[in-house]
Amino acid sequence: MTEFLIHNAKIVRPGVSIATGYLHVRAGRIIQLGEGSGCPDVDCPIIDARGQTLTPGLIDMHCHGIHSFQYDQGAEHLRAAASVLGCYGTTTVVPTLVPKLQNGAPKLQDKFLHVLDQFANAMAEVKNVAIPGVHLEGPFVALSGAACATSVGDLGLLEELLGACKGRVSVMSIAPEVRGVIPIIERLVEKGVVPFITNTRASVEQTTAAIDAGASHATHFYDVFPLPEETDPGVRPAGAVETILGDRRGTCDFICDGIHVHPMAVRAAVAAKGWRGVALITDASFGAGLMPGVFETPWGYRVEVKEGNAPRIADPEHPMCGALAGSALTMNRGMENLFRWLDLPEEQIWALGTWTPANILGVASKGDLATGMDADLVLWRNGNNGLEPDRTWVAGEVVYPPLRDFLSAKDQSRS
Ligand SMILES: [Zn+2]
Repeated sequence: MTEFLIHNAKIVRPGVSIATGYLHVRAGRIIQLGEGSGCPDVDCPIIDARGQTLTPGLIDMHCHGIHSFQYDQGAEHLRAAASVLGCYGTTTVVPTLVPKLQNGAPKLQDKFLHVLDQFANAMAEVKNVAIPGVHLEGPFVALSGAACATSVGDLGLLEELLGACKGRVSVMSIAPEVRGVIPIIERLVEKGVVPFITNTRASVEQTTAAIDAGASHATHFYDVFPLPEETDPGVRPAGAVETILGDRRGTCDFICDGIHVHPMAVRAAVAAKGWRGVALITDASFGAGLMPGVFETPWGYRVEVKEGNAPRIADPEHPMCGALAGSALTMNRGMENLFRWLDLPEEQIWALGTWTPANILGVASKGDLATGMDADLVLWRNGNNGLEPDRTWVAGEVVYPPLRDFLSAKDQSRS
């Protein structure tokens, strides 16, 4: 049974406070924490945080992969991705898959069903990151965006998807204007799956109806959220964006890389909703966390990853050469951007990557540092090199740095 105590840490309770104190972990949970520079007398290993910041682990609700690992390539990629997420401070991920349909028919491709089956089994055994379930991005969306299938609401197809995942679906993204979507939303809510709104040009009325049915969170807000049609020349129409911002029940998340959405849109949403209503996601896929360069992808073209930019198609003969090809954001870089963009107290900014996504997903045991919560923790390195984890724990076990590095660092500190 792993037990340890961290003291002399700047302990962040997202949205609530930041104070120097200690935190005691046993059997994967926080059993006690307190304020002050003292260290309680305990019979377990003690870690001196040397004043570094300790936060709950970061929670990514929308992520397709990292490095060269793509979740839609199968369970091996999920295991490989899980082993590196801790170095970016991510301790919970909702692996996101785009359902693939047979030639536009309301039937899933066999290859995709096979991946879902693999995932359903692999998710339970992955150790280095917590996985509440998968996020199915589609197929009941109105606009294809980055290669999403689009389908009318089909309860049979929904049951097939949920069945293939053996009940391990956390989130499904839908669009409010899709025909027959309301029964889909109601079924998702009944099954404990959180419906997200995306890839939509819905009207205010359609979006309100979706919120009434239980879909109140919008994912990769502003991306694939075009303006509805103008009804009168010069009259700016309102639609899903205004409804999410204006309806008290609405929440949203952003790809905070500064490319997929302007920082001002994030500021506007935070001004409308506060820190409880806006979350950070990466929507990352191939290339996130890699050094700049040109890489072969599983999509049949190469992408170029540049520092501080998103991956772009790099084949000159490709008709869309230079276009965005997903996101290369990591959660720690997203948090860094939020600290630059937002004029809020530090503990509230931390909430956008911790408490708020946990709350949106309905995962009550994560996203805060409090007695009884899961010991998913990140100790952030002091210094000027941005936000880099010094150490990351999932359920009280060190996942970064990898155990052998961690043990050798301990040996060095003894000598
Ligand atoms: Zn996505």
